[in-house]
Amino acid sequence: MTCQTSSAPRTIAFIGAGNMASAIFGGMIEAGYPASHIIATARSRETLDALEQRYGVNTTHDNADAVSRADVVVLGVKPQMMHDVCQALTPAVQAKKPLIVSVAAGITCESLERWLGGDLAVIRCMPNTPSLVGVGASGLFATPQVTDEQRALMDDMLTAVGIVEWVEEEGLLEAVTGVSGSGPAYFFLFIESLEAAGIELGLSAETARRLAIQTARGAAEMAFTSEHEPAELRRRVCSPNGTTERAVNSFENDDLRDIVARAAKASSVRAAEMA
Ligand code: NAD
Repeated sequence: MTCQTSSAPRTIAFIGAGNMASAIFGGMIEAGYPASHIIATARSRETLDALEQRYGVNTTHDNADAVSRADVVVLGVKPQMMHDVCQALTPAVQAKKPLIVSVAAGITCESLERWLGGDLAVIRCMPNTPSLVGVGASGLFATPQVTDEQRALMDDMLTAVGIVEWVEEEGLLEAVTGVSGSGPAYFFLFIESLEAAGIELGLSAETARRLAIQTARGAAEMAFTSEHEPAELRRRVCSPNGTTERAVNSFENDDLRDIVARAAKASSVRAAEMA
């Protein structure tokens, strides 16, 4: 992976290199980004040693030192830690003025900028857990100070672990949370339910689980690769008066669309409450 608009790779500090941050830089390194330009920080020495061994990245306990060497700072700590972590970083951030990127749910650009001393370019990112296996979906919002080069760098970083969608209003990240941020759990729940239905119909638990998982995977792959939209793919597997049509009618009669809409809304309302 290269930064499209600059010949020299940028140094990127990941403050709080847990599951999400390490998924992102792991994907970047796999896509060719030099590990020597990545700095990871965490609280425990064991975590840092494991990251060094697995990815060959630079590590430190000292967040401010990492920031002082970085062009981009990715904040990967839990939302409840963010205020304290940012305040401790203010002098280093103000001295260097790196691009600030946050993956924390519910923390606004305005809060981040204020906690870090103001006058900064900030990107907020809502990734999801399939980034861990390279099939993530991230929604991003950039404040006006973010340059085209910085946007291109973020595109490069996150397309290493999935797809990237920019939104033009920060509030739309709540909708992104309702669709893709929380979305993997909706599909896990559907797989669980289909597995349970298979057991109810007489299959062994293992067979029901394998069939349910592979069916979800196959349907997602078809939806992803096909030239047809999902509704058309669904119509094509529903022969008139056939088995699938009977099942799909059962979902429609039980208002599946409404059930899904209410769940996504609930997630986005919760995201708004956290902001
Ligand atoms: P995690 O617990 O795996 O990672 C957090 C890391 O921060 C840990 O390694 C911890 O050691 C480190 N840390 C804590 N305090 C620190 C400090 N003062 N200095 C340096 N490091 C410190 O959590 P995660 O699941 O990777 O989530 C991280 C962020 O990603 C959260 O803000 C969350 O909202 C966001 N996020 C997660 C998901 C998800 O599905 N996991 C999805 C979207 C967004």
